[in-house]
Amino acid sequence: MTAPHPVPGERSDGESNQGERSESNPRTSAALRAFAALPTVLVATDYDGVVAPIVSDPERAFPLPGTMDTLRALAAAPGVTVALVSGRDRATLRALSGADDPLVTVGSHGGEFDDGFTARELTDDRRALLATVIAQLTDIADRFPGAAIESKPTSAALHVRNAGPDGAVALEEARRGPATIAGVHATEGKAVLELAVVEASKGHALKVLRAAVGADAVLYLGDDVTDERAFAVLRGPDSGGPDVSVKVGAGDTVAEYRLPDPEGVRYALRELLRLRSDGR
Ligand SMILES: [Mg+2]
Repeated sequence: MTAPHPVPGERSDGESNQGERSESNPRTSAALRAFAALPTVLVATDYDGVVAPIVSDPERAFPLPGTMDTLRALAAAPGVTVALVSGRDRATLRALSGADDPLVTVGSHGGEFDDGFTARELTDDRRALLATVIAQLTDIADRFPGAAIESKPTSAALHVRNAGPDGAVALEEARRGPATIAGVHATEGKAVLELAVVEASKGHALKVLRAAVGADAVLYLGDDVTDERAFAVLRGPDSGGPDVSVKVGAGDTVAEYRLPDPEGVRYALRELLRLRSDGR
């Protein structure tokens, strides 16, 4: 992992008007300009912590005002496809974000796609395996107050954000237990372990979307460890490619660019929309 280049100028000064920024980092702006000039592009973004600020109740994680409008406007522009790629199940992602056509929604870390991409039906064996995983995770969660199970069509997640310090113990039990069953694919997140019965990653999701769209370049924004698998399939200027990988917030990353928070994301997306509108 390498530290991305610093982006002074993207920091909020706390005095700005509702988080609006009038300045942008020259390096990020240059990347957005080059990206915007390409004929066919895919703009893909994680949801939580990027479009929607992180809140303690995940059922109330709503988009930052203005961000979804900008994504819709981008999606309406010729040659631009916009996708939300989330660890959440696709139905919840659509409900919380308000995303509908033409925005593409991918749920469960790439386990659930829009119709027209790769719909996946579970076999009976996989369905039985998922039931076993959910039963074992539930056994663990029941012993740790605040721990919760999120059940999705192709996976189940153990959330310990509200379980206090014991949450780490619960996650370790899940890693040593159901995560080791043959055919189970584990994905680590912030205070969450997701166990899928189909192979799914955000990196795989971006490959599928890139091919389906025929994109000349892909922009991806993400804030979590699961987003690293998406950044890893992109080739940006550092490796001679046209893609733009953007880590949101602090932490190690393989992404080539960084934005501080969802306000910074909103600003950058507006800048991209402006560039796409002006330059064409
Ligand atoms: Mg996130």
